[in-house]
Amino acid sequence: MLKPNGFTTRIIHTPYAREDAHHALHQPIYSNAAFDFESAEQMELAFQGRLPVHAYSRISNPTVENFELRIKQITGALNVTALSSGMAAVSNAIFMLASTGSNIIASKHLFGNTYVFFESTIKDFGIETRFCDLTNNEEVKANIDENTVAIFVETITNPQLEVVDLKSLSDTAHALNVPFIADSTLTPPNVFSAKDFGIDIEIISSTKCISGGGTSVGGLIVDYGTFNWSKSKKLASYAKRFGPYAFNYKLRREIFRNLGACLSPFAAFLQSLGLETLQLRFEKAANNCRELAEFLISLPEIKQVNYPGIKGTEFYEISEKQFGKFPGAMLTFDFSTREECFNFMNKLELIRRATNVYDNKTLILHPASTIYCDFDQEKKESLHVSDTMLRLSLGIEDIEDLKNDLIQAISKL
Ligand SMILES: *Cc1c(COP(=O)(O)O)cnc(C)c1O
Repeated sequence: MLKPNGFTTRIIHTPYAREDAHHALHQPIYSNAAFDFESAEQMELAFQGRLPVHAYSRISNPTVENFELRIKQITGALNVTALSSGMAAVSNAIFMLASTGSNIIASKHLFGNTYVFFESTIKDFGIETRFCDLTNNEEVKANIDENTVAIFVETITNPQLEVVDLKSLSDTAHALNVPFIADSTLTPPNVFSAKDFGIDIEIISSTKCISGGGTSVGGLIVDYGTFNWSKSKKLASYAKRFGPYAFNYKLRREIFRNLGACLSPFAAFLQSLGLETLQLRFEKAANNCRELAEFLISLPEIKQVNYPGIKGTEFYEISEKQFGKFPGAMLTFDFSTREECFNFMNKLELIRRATNVYDNKTLILHPASTIYCDFDQEKKESLHVSDTMLRLSLGIEDIEDLKNDLIQAISKL
């Protein structure tokens, strides 16, 4: 039988878990809470997890399951769980592994909400985050102890655009029996294969590129079954019974179910459809990003451009090794002052002022006055969020129109 190999073919031709009664060509939206059982005995088996059927949509749902299967097809993961947002994926993964007294190793270079989650939210539960320079393996090693439950990293950090050597960091983690978690939202599965870099648990905000143009909020926990869970205090007893499925078992039967951050069937439908065109859209957006980065460098009004796809820059080589020709579709650039940034933003006619990334539309924001507005100057500096920096997330518009918008806005400064 023909076995499709291509990234997009595998998404589009992912078989349903079960035949649809009407042979619908797209997985229908099963927008119901409960499912019917023929007998009390069947119901008991379903609740024991011995009958692979759906019982209640907070726990599992056919439309959501089909989306999860598609992600499994393209990542080669052992288990995939779709959640209500990227932040739900982050928090569920951390609550899976950490208890009071645990610590987590992470960089300060993190998506804003993830940073506050680590720095404040879980601190109140007695979980410490040890912020380290993840590009420095010695510093990482020195911070790991017997209570370390995860190293958490973003494949490209937002908005600093820092890129660490993932293979080397995962080797460090595994040598010390620590699970390696990576948020790969900025490098979607068509350009980055987490499995090849020793990532045990991958986090994706499917709100971004997967949703198909900012259509809905969602998140994914992608579990590769690679970590030896008998080395985890919290999961050792599960590892005895379920081996590589230990993480998934506790997640699906306890943490995910009880935190209740499930993906709605409608959002799963939108994101499953968005996934079909992920490769087409992302390659266009990433090409736009490279071309616009080079264009911005040529403008004397722009003080500095940051994008890991620029030859000769700090993270160019490691980015190319890890993400190939498409190291993200987001860049940052600097004017001389904050006022200039604001004036420039206000003159834009096509590029939208909005806080999202990887929409089909090109979006701009001033991180220091928005995502980081609750932080004082000193903290912003320690996070490398400068007052003169703008963040641009590239969409799939025609590049000449984007350049023209930049030119007309700059000419009015
Ligand atoms: C947006 C984003 C998140 C959070 O995702 P939501 O779906 O908005 O909850 C986490 N990590 C990164 C890198 C992001 O860009």
